[in-house]
Amino acid sequence: MNNADFIERDLRTIWHPCTQMKDHEWLPMIPIRRGEGVWLEDFDGKRYLDAISSWWVNLFGHANPRTNAAVKAQIDQLEHVIMAGFSHEPALKLSERLVQLTPNGLSRCFFADNGSSAVEVALKMSFHYWHNHGRNNKRRFITLSNSYHGETLGALAVGDVELYKQTYAPLLMDVITVPSPDCYTRAAGETCEEHSSRMFEHMEKTLSEHADEVCAVIVEPLVQCAGNMRMYHPIYLERLREACSRYQVHLIADEVATGFGRTGTLFACEQAGISPDFMCLSKGLTGGYLPLSVTMTSDEIYSAFYDDYQNLRAFLHSHSFTGNPLGCAAALATLDIFAEDNVIENNRSLARAMSDALTELNQHPQVAEVRQTGMIAAVELVADKTTRRAYPWQERRGLRVYQHALQRGVLLRPLGNVVYFMPPYVITEDQINFLAEVAREGIGLAVAD
Ligand code: PMP
Repeated sequence: MNNADFIERDLRTIWHPCTQMKDHEWLPMIPIRRGEGVWLEDFDGKRYLDAISSWWVNLFGHANPRTNAAVKAQIDQLEHVIMAGFSHEPALKLSERLVQLTPNGLSRCFFADNGSSAVEVALKMSFHYWHNHGRNNKRRFITLSNSYHGETLGALAVGDVELYKQTYAPLLMDVITVPSPDCYTRAAGETCEEHSSRMFEHMEKTLSEHADEVCAVIVEPLVQCAGNMRMYHPIYLERLREACSRYQVHLIADEVATGFGRTGTLFACEQAGISPDFMCLSKGLTGGYLPLSVTMTSDEIYSAFYDDYQNLRAFLHSHSFTGNPLGCAAALATLDIFAEDNVIENNRSLARAMSDALTELNQHPQVAEVRQTGMIAAVELVADKTTRRAYPWQERRGLRVYQHALQRGVLLRPLGNVVYFMPPYVITEDQINFLAEVAREGIGLAVAD
């Protein structure tokens, strides 16, 4: 089968995610036959450098021999088992290691099978904790503007990306949205730290007014990924942790995208030296191999549910594939690679190479900002550099970068007018330079008229 044959059959049966399917009348989809390292290969034999880690999940390359071996060994042992009333070794080992690796106090692992579900679990657990303590007035959540936490209705409600949310507004619970500490909006002459710290005043005010009715504040630590890779300073998380404790409101850290080394530390929360009450993990958890997620929390929260069955305080939430053994085996292999290969340290030089390769784009007349946190770098395109006037979304400028990159053998998938790089950690410095070159060309074409 070649690309054309594949696409014809594909378009007859598959409804692809996050896609206006009519676009495929003129925008070819890319059927992938195999992957190896940073490369994906289509059915015509063309290769693409996966600069976005296949939606931010892949850490150590496609078809990584070590992860492959771990999953293959597990499949002969046990492919799946119900996690209620039963358990298995990969989940046990993974839980013990996650408790060791995550910030202090996160001592309990509740598994699910995708990032949105991990968020749903955290929201429900937080609400239920207060309910079990007789605090029945606590039923709302505070979220940041421009945040993203997934697509299921609860996760969508606590997010704030209009494009995904607006249509479903009538179905969504009412949340309190506080302005984001996003440093892109800082005043001229203000440092990122000053800006993020100043923006905390909004949160402080909201907490002081609403703490009695609020279960939790949910944030993406340091980088609002789906919200155009907007970044903020760890000082905000420090202040938020302190205030949440003071106001008796939980802190949910959604590290689905930022976890596992993306921001330069194993978890973004480390950079603020904080422990959240809930931490949601998925994506890189399995090295990008299999759908798995975990919501971690404290013994204190766990104990609010621990009671005689008749008292009906248990957390009766489940998914069929909760804690799947193959996913857990892939996750254990991923943690082994972190431990054995000095990944966080090596990523520092890769991050430096990304920064060096992109620095020239700062001078570009249509680039408002090049920003970076660890292994996430983003280039914000604007119609007017002085006023930072954005290009109208209808012009789909980022899509032109996407199309150019595909021609050059790179998978870059801009978010609106923001071109970003979130490559697997096995990328080389030469490949980073190649990515930057393709991005520069693509941006040149995208802003040409
Ligand atoms: N939270 C964050 C911060 C995310 O970036 C995402 C996915 N992009 C999710 C939650 C949802 O994860 P999933 O797509 O696995 O449901």
